[in-house]
Amino acid sequence: MLKDKTVLVTGAAKGIGKAIAIAFAKEGCNIILNYRSTVSDKLVAEIKNYGVNCLTIQGDVSNFEKAKEIVEESIETFGYIDILVNNAGITKDGLFMRMSEQDFDAVLNTNLKGSFNITRHTINHMIKKRCGAIINISSIVGVMGNAGQANYAASKAGVIGMTKSVAREVASRGITCNAIAPGFIETDMTAVLKEDIVKQMIAQIPMKKLGQAEDVAETAVFLAKSKYITGQVIHVNGGMAMY
Ligand code: NDP
Repeated sequence: MLKDKTVLVTGAAKGIGKAIAIAFAKEGCNIILNYRSTVSDKLVAEIKNYGVNCLTIQGDVSNFEKAKEIVEESIETFGYIDILVNNAGITKDGLFMRMSEQDFDAVLNTNLKGSFNITRHTINHMIKKRCGAIINISSIVGVMGNAGQANYAASKAGVIGMTKSVAREVASRGITCNAIAPGFIETDMTAVLKEDIVKQMIAQIPMKKLGQAEDVAETAVFLAKSKYITGQVIHVNGGMAMY
């Protein structure tokens, strides 16, 4: 169903983005891996092994002009972006009363504005073709809040608001726009958490384990295949919160 579609995944060098890129490659999609610092030849080879094309594009999604270049290079190479996954994200945790303006701006600029930047440059192409799927990676924290993550929660709640608004604007043009709100997923982002915090987290999860990047990736593939789901937030959290 997704064979020969082109997928742009931001922040795709590792973690959830990498798993999403591999999952779409398995479906026969051509993959554009956006990365900020480095991307391994091994990942590119793994993706090409599925018989698909793979283009890597370096670029910081928080930069509006850079985001334009990422989208333009993708379209010049493949002619089109069928599926966009806004995955790039960072944390800069700290209690609100001590949070610096720099840490607030940095998180908002990558997580929320980065998604705006890439989507803004992609949307007109999708509207012209009258089809497309946009998948934004939000977080359970954007819905529940989390002490020490006011900046991150604000950015991820913003992503949900943007997702629903874009969904309403472009639904009649055949474009879906959904968000995935993962719970606690085992990646470098959560590897920094102390053991006792992880234990506390697991105690709150009915499934009694952290999620895997692949759990999020299979949801992204599901959403890309879904024709009549738009403006939704799909929770992938082992039952940690139920809406
Ligand atoms: P990782 O830290 O493992 O990966 C994040 C990726 O994003 C890295 O490859 C990073 O590149 C890239 N990135 C960061 N900033 C930018 C930028 N400005 N431009 C381009 N790429 C960038 O995190 P995860 O895989 O865990 O997270 C992926 C997404 O899932 C994020 O949006 C995160 O908020 C979200 N999420 C994660 C959860 C979890 O429990 N892990 C839970 C809920 C949501 P580099 O290393 O070069 O900086």
